[in-house]
Amino acid sequence: MIRNVLPALVLLLGALSTVQAVPGFTFRPHNQQTAEKGVNGGSRHGHGHKEWSAESGGGEHREFVQCATLSPNTQEQEMEEKKFTQMLRKHRRPGHKTGELKQIDLPIHFHIIYANDTQQGGMLKPWQIEQQMFRLNLDFMSANIRFFIASTSYRYDPRWFNTGVGEDYDYEKAQMGSHRIGDEQTLNVYTVGWGPDRAGAYGYSHYPSNYQYDPGWDGVLLNSVTMPGGSEEGHNLGRTLVHEVGHWSGLMHTFEGYDCSGQGDYVADTPVHAGPSYYCDIPMDTCPGYEGNDPVYNFMNYADKDYCRSEFTPGQIERMRNQLKIYRNVEDA
Ligand SMILES: [Zn+2]
Repeated sequence: MIRNVLPALVLLLGALSTVQAVPGFTFRPHNQQTAEKGVNGGSRHGHGHKEWSAESGGGEHREFVQCATLSPNTQEQEMEEKKFTQMLRKHRRPGHKTGELKQIDLPIHFHIIYANDTQQGGMLKPWQIEQQMFRLNLDFMSANIRFFIASTSYRYDPRWFNTGVGEDYDYEKAQMGSHRIGDEQTLNVYTVGWGPDRAGAYGYSHYPSNYQYDPGWDGVLLNSVTMPGGSEEGHNLGRTLVHEVGHWSGLMHTFEGYDCSGQGDYVADTPVHAGPSYYCDIPMDTCPGYEGNDPVYNFMNYADKDYCRSEFTPGQIERMRNQLKIYRNVEDA
């Protein structure tokens, strides 16, 4: 689907948004929320539903899915994986020792999209971005990948901020294409609201293999409520971005395929499981015929609390670095 959409250039509507300096404002306390989990989501992206009342409340409900990252269909994915494996074989240097992870440094451009000067309106404080970077770099330390802020810009764009997931891809894509900075090694993060009364997600990302088809759409969309200090209790430690950057670096969900058979996430050391795991404290084994319990602590699963998601496996680290090498031309990754 991603490959078939019109090139972003056709849709450039950059003039509609404006870049503004950070205005002074009073920081408002986090909104109160009552969270209720729906654990029986039916559709592919319908898992992890959460309903809560916003501060401005009055019976207003938002529903977030954890992640709206789309994978290609199985056939397309298998073809891409074959190409990936072949390219990797060509790139492998003789004498290269596994286990020696050279440090990778990658730039991030933060694009803060906001509708008004409040936190609910998407206006993030600089310290939130700093803490987000701290979280991201701590969590990617095991992969020896480091990110540094190359720029932060604030853009007043209520239309984009409030658009629900999938409601206006053309506009969203056009905005991403017009604001995106840098090459394939540059991570662009756009924080949005996906609300207040529309279906939303915590985030979504595009895989490295998409860059060759659609460079303008490369990057991560992040719900601003998930940033450190954000209003989404339990999901405001900054680990949504860690999860999405995992996708941006080529990782799929550990439950990819939603099946005990099949290729899953193409990583050998993540136990096969048949669907997302939501709870940290309840061990599950949805594929008892296969080794290992469901990986509830994995960054690429759906544990319902940020503190729970806390690890990449060595196989995931290897895949990320290989994907960065092949699709993002990161040297010696
Ligand atoms: Zn995801």
